[in-house]
Amino acid sequence: MSTQTAPEPPTALEILQRVFGYESFRGDQAAIVETVRAGGNAVVLMPTGGGKSLCYQVPALLREGTAIVVSPLIALMQDQVDALLSVGVRAAFLNSTQDFEERERVENAYLTGQLDLLYVAPERLSSPQTKRFLANGNVSLFAIDEAHCVSQWGHDFRPDYLALGELADLWPDVPRIALTATATEATHREIRQRLHLEDAADFVSSFDRPNIQYRIVNKAEPRKQLLEFIRSEGDGQVGIVYALSRKTVEATAEFLRANGINALPYHAGLPAEVRAHTQARFLREDGMVIVATIAFGMGIDKPDVRFVAHIDLPKSIEGYYQETGRAGRDGEPSVAWLTYGLQDVVQQRRMIDESPGDAAHRRRLGQHLDAMLALCETVECRRVNLLAYFGERGTACGNCDVCLNPPQVWDGTVPAQKLLSTIVRLQRERNQSFGAGQLIDILRGKTTPRTQQWSHETLATWGIGNDLSEPQWRGVIRQLLARGLLITQGEYGTLALSQTSAAVLQGAQTVPLRTEMARIPRGSSSAKR
Ligand code: ADP
Ligand code: ZN
Repeated sequence: MSTQTAPEPPTALEILQRVFGYESFRGDQAAIVETVRAGGNAVVLMPTGGGKSLCYQVPALLREGTAIVVSPLIALMQDQVDALLSVGVRAAFLNSTQDFEERERVENAYLTGQLDLLYVAPERLSSPQTKRFLANGNVSLFAIDEAHCVSQWGHDFRPDYLALGELADLWPDVPRIALTATATEATHREIRQRLHLEDAADFVSSFDRPNIQYRIVNKAEPRKQLLEFIRSEGDGQVGIVYALSRKTVEATAEFLRANGINALPYHAGLPAEVRAHTQARFLREDGMVIVATIAFGMGIDKPDVRFVAHIDLPKSIEGYYQETGRAGRDGEPSVAWLTYGLQDVVQQRRMIDESPGDAAHRRRLGQHLDAMLALCETVECRRVNLLAYFGERGTACGNCDVCLNPPQVWDGTVPAQKLLSTIVRLQRERNQSFGAGQLIDILRGKTTPRTQQWSHETLATWGIGNDLSEPQWRGVIRQLLARGLLITQGEYGTLALSQTSAAVLQGAQTVPLRTEMARIPRGSSSAKR
């Protein structure tokens, strides 16, 4: 017999150790948990793999009632709930994949206070019915995952997120925590404002992933380059290869398999069972390489991914950072490898020109791409460039390709002028515009059926650029495009002058360029940075 005393409520650390089986909190986790437990609001910016989930799961177990977790990743709810159930946490979800009975069971569990966490899709929360339903139970806290989806200018906008601002008015006394792995200054401000988290405590972790080595190479023969890269990493390394189209995904996976790499394709066009099977193998087997569209990877927690390779240019730094962030979650050295070329720039500019939405939207997409291109073309440390995008300052990392192998820089002013004046002449004298291929043939004085058809041999600039090779010219054009000294136009992505091109033509602006893999052209000065 013992005298009855009320048991002490468990501490956050006890929950962490007893329920989740972890030794100690990481980074800001303890402070975040304490803020929310005490009823305060929080905005959490933490890179992928940083440990955001525990920031609301632990307070969910410390506070009375049910934590409502808003997550747009319906496909992952089951996994998250299963993981919680397996450690004895009472969790469930509500989404469109459930039948009526299942939904009713979950709703009853909530209403009778038998759930610690309830995951819901954002579109549900915007319905008055759901809000009434939630009001009939006891909400301990709201966790808004992937909070950057509220940003209209971001890369992942979801209109349903805008309605989440109302939670502040409907449940003024319930703490809210917004979490994201992708946040620039602007997104951060938007999250605070649109979700009515003006008074929230901010927890901003560093986005630096020191164990990831960033490498960006010029695209020549992407598949072959990819294969060489994978082989250079050693046998049986786990990796993810990202490509833009399903077709490229399949062809690349097949190519790798034919060359002895244990690779499988993954994209949204494959049957659900095939995708589930591929994902399960990736998680379970050693040395798998998944070739995927960006549909793959959200919420997949495989700690020992040794490389993430991109064979197409990502559309934004946010996307690139999130995808590369899937490498090296275990903290061991890992590589983020990207190959990109002129065609990527032309293609993406065209996709932006053709994208639905208003001019402001297209301008925003253009800015995202510009930032990505600046990272590709930088002659300074990649990591410094990347972190600067997220508002962090850093010093040269000594580990990225630029730090290890500083690019040669040469004065590309004269070639740029030759190219720009060819474009101007074609436009003024003949009212014509062309893509890179034809312009390079003109500059190099290479007669083809197409140059004959258009009598381009009679242009004053015919052959004035034969001191550079074709790949070198492609490099010049790519870099001019990347810096906005050249733009693409129309359905065929023909090249045209931009507003800033005049300064180059008039000699008011010089154009330092990175050397392509080939040697520096004759007669141009070079400087090593
Ligand atoms: P995020 O949502 O930020 O990408 P997760 O919440 O999925 O990250 O956590 C990433 C990984 O880190 C998971 O495997 C998780 O179990 C692990 N983790 C998180 N916090 C801790 C901790 N304090 N100690 C040990 N492992 C942790
Ligand atoms: Zn560096």
